[in-house]
Amino acid sequence: MLLDDQWKRVLNKLENEVTAVTFDLWLSTLTPIVYSNDELILLAPSITAKNQVNQPAIYNKLTKCVREEFTLYTTVRVTDNQEYEESLKAKTQKAEEKAAPSKFNKKYTFDNFVVGKSNQVVYAAMKNVAERPSSKFNPLFIYGGVGLGKTHLLHAVGNYLWESRPDLNVIYVTCEKFTNDYVDYLRNSKDKLNSEFRDKYRTVDVLMIDDIQFISNRMGIQEEFFHTFNDLYQSNKQIIIASDRPPKEMSALEERLRSRFSSGLIQDIQEPDYETKVAIIKKKCSQDGYLVDEDVVDFIAQRTGTNIREMEGILSKVVFYSSLLGKTHATMEDAKEALKDYGESERTNLDANKIITTVCDFFKVTKDDLLGKKKNKEIVEPRQMCIYLINDMLNIPLTAIGELMGGRDHTTIMHARDKISNQIKINPHVKTLVNDIKSRLLQY
Ligand code: ADP
Ligand code: MG
Repeated sequence: MLLDDQWKRVLNKLENEVTAVTFDLWLSTLTPIVYSNDELILLAPSITAKNQVNQPAIYNKLTKCVREEFTLYTTVRVTDNQEYEESLKAKTQKAEEKAAPSKFNKKYTFDNFVVGKSNQVVYAAMKNVAERPSSKFNPLFIYGGVGLGKTHLLHAVGNYLWESRPDLNVIYVTCEKFTNDYVDYLRNSKDKLNSEFRDKYRTVDVLMIDDIQFISNRMGIQEEFFHTFNDLYQSNKQIIIASDRPPKEMSALEERLRSRFSSGLIQDIQEPDYETKVAIIKKKCSQDGYLVDEDVVDFIAQRTGTNIREMEGILSKVVFYSSLLGKTHATMEDAKEALKDYGESERTNLDANKIITTVCDFFKVTKDDLLGKKKNKEIVEPRQMCIYLINDMLNIPLTAIGELMGGRDHTTIMHARDKISNQIKINPHVKTLVNDIKSRLLQY
């Protein structure tokens, strides 16, 4: 009502400013529909009327009178029915898009990713790309073994951009999906109407392709990928690729793709060390509300390999086991019971020789030196560590350990064992070292 009254007063003013024809034919036919955010929207009954009113001579006078009645900053928008409806539709679409759930896995965010020595560089590169796509590392090629967090980081980039840059078209696909889409496209392309594939992949702002090691040369898939890559790259779009191995080890990869990948940053993600594994287990516990005793965390970190997915699986197995028993806390007994099967294979696999070679490998010393007579620190420490581990992990008498360790006296063995077990109590660095080696030894 108020808007109509205000508009009537504007019309009264206008009547004295323009010719009668202009007023009767055009201005008086306008209807005010909304006034908000200092904008008055007027609906014209036809496109002709809209165009007439939008001529500068008329439009300026209209604006002047509107501002006298409304505010000094009011802008006037004259629109027609169709245009107005379209703008409304676009608006609701935008709102719906924003309200739609992210198409990326919600659990895989940067916040949920534990950063350690093994993955800090990859993490930094991915974060940089998420914050400023197409600026520094393009293409970004990340690689590393199974379960080390590559897919997690790709989704983290997706989730981050979903929040911070809703205007960008960000696509995550596996190599398999990309291939299938392309094969579908080839099958349907006879009807010429099907340009969906190219529309989909060449209009993105950020394209992420996971598990590219599965790329094959079937049906010209690398050719298509090459063109997609070039198109995007030349229009300065961000490309991120994940693989289980570096480009130079992908034998099926065409040379030109290999060299394209090499033009950006190639970064590996390494196997987590013991501390990172512990941190990941703890994070997972707090995220999923698991209550687990501290020694259970150590136990799992030691007894699992470097595949984090597998480690998570074992953790949920332990928690599940303890919940079956109606407990609120998973204890060491639950962990041992739940991992009984693993423990057996562990014992049969482990022998003194394996410990010796693993220690040599870990400290980069030769077996001859480790078992020999040298007395320099670089050799003595690994030697004592090795003695400690054999004693701790295997059920062998001290004299036998002495023999295995290059014919040493049992008191020497006892001394080495006590020295390391004391250091473990007072020096966290030594504790970490021992745990690191144990976890290598106990991998399934
Ligand atoms: P990849 O793709 O390299 O095979 P994923 O990204 O699927 O590995 O990771 C496997 C599991 O391990 C996922 O559940 C992931 O959340 C978890 N994960 C891997 N690395 C980390 C990390 N640094 N912090 C937290 N969770 C991790
Ligand atoms: Mg993956």
